[in-house]
Amino acid sequence: MTTDDARSDELQRALDDVRARITRACDAAGRDPGEVTLVVVTKTFPACDVALLARLGVVDVGESRDQEAGAKAAELAAGPGGASLRWHFIGQLQRNKARSVARYADVVHSVDRAELAQALDRGAVAAGRDLEVLLQVDLDDTGGTGDADGSAPRRGGADPADVAALAREVGSSSRLVLRGLMAVAPRDGDPAAAFARLHGLAQALREEHPQATWVSAGMSGDLEQAVAAGATHLRVGSAILGGRPPLQ
Ligand SMILES: *Cc1c(COP(=O)(O)O)cnc(C)c1O
Repeated sequence: MTTDDARSDELQRALDDVRARITRACDAAGRDPGEVTLVVVTKTFPACDVALLARLGVVDVGESRDQEAGAKAAELAAGPGGASLRWHFIGQLQRNKARSVARYADVVHSVDRAELAQALDRGAVAAGRDLEVLLQVDLDDTGGTGDADGSAPRRGGADPADVAALAREVGSSSRLVLRGLMAVAPRDGDPAAAFARLHGLAQALREEHPQATWVSAGMSGDLEQAVAAGATHLRVGSAILGGRPPLQ
């Protein structure tokens, strides 16, 4: 057996486990698993892992750094099966990277300010393609700016009070398609409460933007709570690919 085969088997088993968790969570919530999209977060893992996942039938992959994501998307596009992947950009995004991201991303989950929405729209216009976007909401009432000593990365996200204005900004763009909301559960809170709040914000958003039906919430550690609160997209990394080295 080659190392590729061994890695592929490992990924298949982990995918099966995660899909079983999603099915159980959907059963418990009385939901159809077909409503829930699994986005496999491949950040920090090599393009060959993404290629193996694509061969195992994974369509949606998530990345959080432009340089890494752009390189992987280019490598995968050149290989077999690459064209069928959907790239989700889920990380904090600087405005000067928006043009690059708009070239390869299909969905951007982390739009949290008007200037970023405008820059992504310009990038999508330049690339001649539509870009699906989610508004990232900051559910951390402690400020969401990371630990005071700077040891935790800033997670970003718009203030819930600013979501309606940001949604109108996206609605008036040329090439951005507003799909819904995204959030990361605060580190030291109850994920169920955070996701319930997100669900309420998503319902309010839909009153003005009926097509904005996606709710991106839930990661390896809290996907059950996210499914219970109505998430349509789960972003799962370490439970499928294994542990990542800590951020530099
Ligand atoms: C890394 C990351 C994930 C995946 O986290 P895991 O705990 O590895 O499943 C999900 N969402 C965002 C925004 C991330 O940066």
